[in-house]
Amino acid sequence: MLPVIVENVPLAPLTTLGLGGTARFFADIADAAEVAPALAWARDMNRPVFILGGGSNLVVADEGFAGLVLRMRTRGRRWSEDGAETRVQVEAGEAWDDVVAEAVARNAAGIECLSGIPGGAGAAPVQNIGAYGQEIASVLRRVRVLERESLEARDIEAGACGFGYRDSLCKREPDRFVVLSVTLGLAKNGPPSVRYLELASVLAAQARPSLADVREAVLALRRKKSMVLDEADPNRRSAGSFFTNPVVTAAAADDIATRAGGEIPRFPLPDGRVKLAAGWLIEHAGLAKGFRLGPVGISSRHALALVHHGGGTTKDLLRLALHVRTSVFERFGISLVPEPVFLGLTWPV
Ligand code: NAP
Repeated sequence: MLPVIVENVPLAPLTTLGLGGTARFFADIADAAEVAPALAWARDMNRPVFILGGGSNLVVADEGFAGLVLRMRTRGRRWSEDGAETRVQVEAGEAWDDVVAEAVARNAAGIECLSGIPGGAGAAPVQNIGAYGQEIASVLRRVRVLERESLEARDIEAGACGFGYRDSLCKREPDRFVVLSVTLGLAKNGPPSVRYLELASVLAAQARPSLADVREAVLALRRKKSMVLDEADPNRRSAGSFFTNPVVTAAAADDIATRAGGEIPRFPLPDGRVKLAAGWLIEHAGLAKGFRLGPVGISSRHALALVHHGGGTTKDLLRLALHVRTSVFERFGISLVPEPVFLGLTWPV
């Protein structure tokens, strides 16, 4: 059935940045069966379609979007047991953190470190969300998608999702699929994952932390960095990490260390390349936490988050983002790549 389509809907209140213009057409999707008719409607009208989840990783152009925005509001978490695995099929419109909370309450391990990440479950596999050494790719069993071209629904098994670091097939081909649901396989009564030193030190007092302890520790760490949505937080209007951590060759990392005049945070990857910390590069390019450029700035709690302080525009935010990119490039010769999705505009290259 075709969902109710409304006109000229402001998108800023539907994003965590609180920026951007209106959607020419907009519909809430309450049932997965509404997606195909909505896509067909847009095709007849010759309008592009954008799929909106929680709006937590999204930058909308001040001019808005001339197409149809479909906001995924589908609900449902179906749990089952399969041997040592606790399985859950989650509809795309579910809030990701509700899924984590229920998994932890059911003592199912594998996503406890992904606590507090804002946004919808449907968006989670698209950018392969990750935190503290866990990522959704390692527990994802399949994604149910609707092919935009054929309007057919089908399953993509985990091995065919093309996962990479904050990357997937769905991210690389944004106009090809709509994610309808995701199926996760979690370890029934499995141990929590504590891989990062920062998390381990918060949990140091507990000999055998439970999944719930790890969730609480992650939430506390994220809160300290303004990475949990909180109405009272002055850094709350952001899209989380604005840039991804660069992955470079070992030789390039050595070169950057030489430019920095000493050691830099670097994390070797299994393929021999090295992951660098984008936040560290930003701060060491001379842009401190709390830096302001008019109505936008760098979060006072985290150098990787760009914050809208109110009364600004997307143009202001992009000016700041380009200033950050240029500063890091001039200091270290590395071009940061943004993490959010852009709607109605393209990131200048
Ligand atoms: P941080 O502690 O300031 O560290 C900077 C970066 O160093 C992190 O982004 C992390 O990369 C990397 N790192 C630190 N310890 C590591 C280790 N033992 N092994 C490998 N890499 C290590 O990081 P942060 O920005 O506050 O973030 C903390 C965690 O939350 C990170 O894992 C981050 O990715 C995650 N987070 C994720 C999202 C998202 O999915 N959009 C948003 C906010 C924060 P990684 O990012 O690869 O882990």
